[in-house]
Amino acid sequence: MKELILNGLRSATDLLLPRLCIVCGCRLLRHESHICLSCLMDMPLTHFQDMSHNPMADRFNEMIEKGLEDGGERYAYATALFFYHNEARYRHIPYQIKYHGNTEAGAFFGKMLGQKMAAGALWSDIDMIIPVPLHWAREWNRGYNQAEVIAAAIASETRVPLRTDILKRRRRTRTQTRLDIEGKARNVAGAFSVSDDAAVIFRGGGNVRHILLVDDVFTTGSTLTACFTALRTVFPPCVRISVATLGFVGGA
Ligand SMILES: [Zn+2]
Repeated sequence: MKELILNGLRSATDLLLPRLCIVCGCRLLRHESHICLSCLMDMPLTHFQDMSHNPMADRFNEMIEKGLEDGGERYAYATALFFYHNEARYRHIPYQIKYHGNTEAGAFFGKMLGQKMAAGALWSDIDMIIPVPLHWAREWNRGYNQAEVIAAAIASETRVPLRTDILKRRRRTRTQTRLDIEGKARNVAGAFSVSDDAAVIFRGGGNVRHILLVDDVFTTGSTLTACFTALRTVFPPCVRISVATLGFVGGA
């Protein structure tokens, strides 16, 4: 009965305020949320969550190795939910989450990624999930941090603590969209630091084995590399620092 009433209410609100597919813009059916079945079936999934080596992990490891002189660095794992192309309709997913306040979609697609990770062996030893922090002024303007929305959904699926108290954004950076690879790296280098409290607690690594950094989209990897570098000032190379995002720019 309750189900019937809820469905009836949903149909009524759908008439007044139709819910649309985030990808193609078509009207969603009653049982669909955020994305229509056809766009869901065609979603260009990466399946990276089950591959310890993949193009995203290789690109990220190449970036982080530039700033390190080895020292027993553990290979970072990397995964994304789907391939992101500027011209493809799936770009609407991170765009809606970041610029249109669609945090429900952030939680929905974050959960989808989290479920895949929870089912995979690579991520079973993660101790904490850290979202890429926004500068406080930008977060205050936007009302939320899109990376944190996605990270929270992954944390709930994998049952790993979400930690927003460890990594801080020290300064505001320019928007990255119009910068080239070198420009992006210069723009965010040194923008992050580990909070004083966390530095004291985790100096030497504590009992941490594996940290997961989360962002919305992986483009050149410069933002995640800057976060990685900040975490490495506290966590020794034996602590693996991996990354997960919704979109990965490049590949198939
Ligand atoms: Zn659709």
